[in-house]
Amino acid sequence: MQSILKQARRIVIKIGSSLVTNHGQGLDHATLTCLAEQIATLKQGKKEIVLVSSGAIAEGIQRLSWEKRPHELYKLQAAAAVGQMGLIQAYEFCFRNHELQTAQLLLTHEDLSDRKRYLNARSTLTTLLSMSVVPVINENDSVATDEIRFGDNDTLAALVTNLIEADVLVILTDQAGLFTSDPRKDIQAKFLNKVSVEDPKIELMAGDVGSNIGRGGMKTKIIAAKRAAQSGAHTIIASGYETNILVRLAQGEAVGTQISTKTQKIAARKQWLANHLQTYGEITLDMGAVKALTKEGKSLLPIGAISSIGTFERGEVVNCVDQEGREVARGLINYSATETLKILRLPSSEIENILGYVDEPELIHRNNLVLL
Ligand code: GLU
Repeated sequence: MQSILKQARRIVIKIGSSLVTNHGQGLDHATLTCLAEQIATLKQGKKEIVLVSSGAIAEGIQRLSWEKRPHELYKLQAAAAVGQMGLIQAYEFCFRNHELQTAQLLLTHEDLSDRKRYLNARSTLTTLLSMSVVPVINENDSVATDEIRFGDNDTLAALVTNLIEADVLVILTDQAGLFTSDPRKDIQAKFLNKVSVEDPKIELMAGDVGSNIGRGGMKTKIIAAKRAAQSGAHTIIASGYETNILVRLAQGEAVGTQISTKTQKIAARKQWLANHLQTYGEITLDMGAVKALTKEGKSLLPIGAISSIGTFERGEVVNCVDQEGREVARGLINYSATETLKILRLPSSEIENILGYVDEPELIHRNNLVLL
């Protein structure tokens, strides 16, 4: 069996609190150094990497000299604000040794469900990846508490996987992977190196118990794998303590648990857009644009759009129809209805003159579009 990471190009790597903070003793710089070195090797192999890292709260607790993790959410949020400084500093330092730039993104679940912010986060991340920067994402704990309460960023990592349509989500933790039951309680527990996300048994296999430092037990990891599969991504759960784990996985060695999915990326995106039965507008395309979209796999540019009807905002789903009114595609539009009306029929280079700014040169990017 070969690791699914070998073929993957775009990868989200999630690093849990207990791993980066050496079981609550402040940041474990040795682990961070090792991980950065491995990620640098993966990047040399032309892989695109996005890091989702927890550890802010654990680091904050250490910096504030608190003896134990408080229960009050507001204190945890304050600790996260303090600790995030250390976390990001440590990553920046480690990656700089490999001449890699890092970027910090603090996101909430709402950012990824709001259509406009979803598009913004997506273009920021893809732009960073195109410049070979390593984005380091954490939940914006000072305004949101989802991951503090439940996930230790497992869900956030899956949402980011969906957002950028990554090929694989790697969840690095302090456990070897997934067992048939909790190995700390059951000596009969068997290790699973491969399981399908479509297998209904996998959720039952996951106990609720996690470490005390972060929130995420195996259950949240399995839910994350299911969510990642919605955009056609496979998941690997592996121990971040295994020597050279990421490089070995990228070389094809099957370490940890691979949770594969049958969902194809394209099918997943079609399904996602098909779920948006409610479309907010209709753009009529000229013949050139219809051909560019349907035959050449191109984006829709303002120059190819003849008319626009409906009231929509950036990030909402609109229909694209030909001059006979036949629906040819559906996609997330980059400009509001008012803006679209102003830039119809114009070359993209004119957008800034007319609107005073450019969100994107395309009206609908091909990555946000499905043909019907
Ligand atoms: N985002 C949080 C962090 O960075 C989640 C982990 C936790 O609840 O400890 O620390």
